[in-house]
Amino acid sequence: MVHTFGLVAKVDRPVLYACINTNHPEALPAVRDAILEWVEPLRGVARVPLVQEVKEGCPGDLQVNFLSASRAHTFPSERPVLNLGSPDDYPAVLHETGHAFGLGDAYVEGVWRCEGEKSLAVMCRPGLDAIAEADRNGIIQVYRTWVMRPGYAWNGRHFRCPDKMRLYGVGNFVFCAR
Ligand SMILES: [Zn+2]
Repeated sequence: MVHTFGLVAKVDRPVLYACINTNHPEALPAVRDAILEWVEPLRGVARVPLVQEVKEGCPGDLQVNFLSASRAHTFPSERPVLNLGSPDDYPAVLHETGHAFGLGDAYVEGVWRCEGEKSLAVMCRPGLDAIAEADRNGIIQVYRTWVMRPGYAWNGRHFRCPDKMRLYGVGNFVFCAR
């Protein structure tokens, strides 16, 4: 069995399950829409059928927490954990879901700026409610990179990491990072 990190490794499953830890029963549609929006650009690229539906179920393929006091952030682990403020904030759900797929922030203060077509990207400018051309190119690049990723072996288990990440491990604790 190959253990995988990030949602990009799971796009060939017909159904993804989101475990939503929330007092917001209306949260699933936003999570579902965001995942399907990121998968859509891959449909012309992948040779396999991709995610058609996202359902609620635990432990699920990803965990979504709504924590009103929390700044949105995502851990792109084997089972991504998205911490969000409000399910009504679709741009934040979309941006964080992009991280769960393995995309980085296209804008990091003091490192680089959003220029050219990137300036219109969800991963560059949180607050947009639809992915842009640069995001589509980004997810396609992440997917293509993923498909060609080498495997890593650790304690007899096999892993692949998303995007440009590699595997690090201490004992049974393993994670992907850049
Ligand atoms: Zn971000």
